[in-house]
Amino acid sequence: RLITLEGGEGAGKSTVLNALRDALMATGAEVVCTREPGGTPLAERIRELLLDPSHEPASAETELLLMFAARAQHVRETLLPALQRNAWVLSDRFTGSSFAYQGGGRGLDPALIAELERRFVVVRPGLTLLLDLGVQQGRERTRGRDLVPDRIERERDEFFERVRAAYLARAGAEPERMRVIDASASAEDVALRATTLLQHYIEH
Ligand code: C5P
Repeated sequence: RLITLEGGEGAGKSTVLNALRDALMATGAEVVCTREPGGTPLAERIRELLLDPSHEPASAETELLLMFAARAQHVRETLLPALQRNAWVLSDRFTGSSFAYQGGGRGLDPALIAELERRFVVVRPGLTLLLDLGVQQGRERTRGRDLVPDRIERERDEFFERVRAAYLARAGAEPERMRVIDASASAEDVALRATTLLQHYIEH
């Protein structure tokens, strides 16, 4: 009953999350919506540390370990209790983000990430929806959130191309569990596609 959403910046994860929540609530079941990094007070503090620009950026390894520290807490304190009382859990990002960002984006060994997952993450999503969007299009949608020089924009594009490729490679390796949605369509179409995949998952 754990469903996770993955995708790059500007792909519209929050809109889809709301649509899925409404669809699940209509069945009368309890639905817990959560996110990573975060999802518990302590894990949200780790998220703040990771996103805080006032100190030096985390090295790739530090970032990976902090992500997994937050995730371990999230699993223990939020996911397991909710799943044990038979609630549906919708998480905006999960382990897939680490394979994409810390693995593909920052170049860490996927085998290391898989090992951390095996040791510290005892739950597995039954369904993961990947909202796939071209890097340029994602950039246009998030434009205005911040202003950065061209050189950094280019580096960023390369980074996000690697993130996207890692996501798609994982989805290709697990086509049953991980479904790719073309996020370049309108918000309504993307939400409709997501709820259709959810219905199919619930019924099978
Ligand atoms: O999903 P959201 O956009 O709120 O994520 C916050 C930031 O953390 C994003 O910029 C995302 O790129 C980054 N992130 C990351 N590695 C993860 C999860 C999120 O770099 N495993």
